[in-house]
Amino acid sequence: DKIQEMRLKYLADEPRIKAVTVLFSDLEGRLHMLDYDKKFLVKSSDNLTFDGSSIRGFTPQRESDLRLAIDWGAFYWAPSDIFGPGKILVFGEVLDKDGSQFTADIRGVLKAYSNDQFAKNGYTLNAANEIEGFVFQGLDAEQRYHETGKFEYVNTGGYYHSLPGDPLRQFIDTVAEVQRAMGFQNEKDHPEVAPSQFEINYSYGEVVAAADTIQLYKLICRQVAHKMGMTASFLPKPVVGVNGNGMHTNISVSKDGKNLFWEERGNENLSEFAWTFADRILTAGNDICLLLNSSVNAFRRLDPHFEAPNQIKVSATDRGSMVRVPIGNERSSRLEVRSVAPDANPYMVMLSVFKTGLDGKVSDVANLRQAERYLPDNIYDALADFRNAEWTSTLLGADVKERYADLKQGSADRCARQLGTFVKAQEVQYH
Ligand code: GLU
Ligand code: MG
Ligand code: MG
Repeated sequence: DKIQEMRLKYLADEPRIKAVTVLFSDLEGRLHMLDYDKKFLVKSSDNLTFDGSSIRGFTPQRESDLRLAIDWGAFYWAPSDIFGPGKILVFGEVLDKDGSQFTADIRGVLKAYSNDQFAKNGYTLNAANEIEGFVFQGLDAEQRYHETGKFEYVNTGGYYHSLPGDPLRQFIDTVAEVQRAMGFQNEKDHPEVAPSQFEINYSYGEVVAAADTIQLYKLICRQVAHKMGMTASFLPKPVVGVNGNGMHTNISVSKDGKNLFWEERGNENLSEFAWTFADRILTAGNDICLLLNSSVNAFRRLDPHFEAPNQIKVSATDRGSMVRVPIGNERSSRLEVRSVAPDANPYMVMLSVFKTGLDGKVSDVANLRQAERYLPDNIYDALADFRNAEWTSTLLGADVKERYADLKQGSADRCARQLGTFVKAQEVQYH
């Protein structure tokens, strides 16, 4: 198509670009990168293959070869002081041997869902994430953790503390600058409530681009922290006794530019469409919890004493609610799903939230918004809910559902086999 032609011509003609890094994510959301020499890529971009058997959740060894198609619309210039000279980052789609959709590549599944059911008919699925993280002292912060049993803060300033010489401030400023260079529409950034914690907000985007942006955000943070002799961490609860890291997911649906969640006279200025969306999320709250909170550590975060929600309800004010209605206007009207951790697979998060909100079921309407219901407080309960739910089979297909559950069972069991502080060390290792 046009965009592919344009990008390929650009790559061929631009002498400063040397290599292209293709990004894709495994079933658990880990970002993988394959670097291609530019000249090779320009010649062979229609016929890229790779070994999928070494990617978690992809294919068993006996059927290991997969194809990689480039999504030329998801194309980013990588600033050379952070990523090295002459590089482009571009997202890839994993395809099966025969070129068909590969069901464990959730980015591809999300893209197909968004395009085939919505974009084609003039609807846009919008999302924006508030991704919190910590920066810890040292390039070897995890190694130090294993030795000392704790992470070392780079500052102790707390909420909004922003003096120019502060290492956390310098980290945030550098990340924001890299983001701007890569085309993010930044909005605001600040040190978060816990010591050494940060949050950098940018504008909403179409759902696949929004999920790509999450992967880029984490990559940039890690890269910048490393350059500064620190380690960025998106563990949901790296330190006990202080706030953890959330990845609040703000969502809306628009048609021909009109926000369908907004209704001036509606309850909390939301349309019936938005309320039904929220009701479906509440109905499936337990079923999809493992997709939004996908690690052992994520369940330590879900504690309302630290502004992290564990209650399956909608509220305009209570930050302990799974879904919140932020103050909005015609343009910004949205729902905020708060029970999401930053180590979840972002494509899976988007697919779960939107497909549940748009196609899910609503049960027990009378009770739904009043009843006291809680999310699971540990991964084993979340796994059981996930496995037992019919909805998760519809959402992912039986095969991907089982592969995902097996991976999560594996990491839960690895943690459970250990005792005492070693349990925490295991969490660090695996997430
Ligand atoms: N850190 C909190 C969480 O884990 C969120 C704080 C906030 O509302 O920004 O979700
Ligand atoms: Mg926050
Ligand atoms: Mg928020």
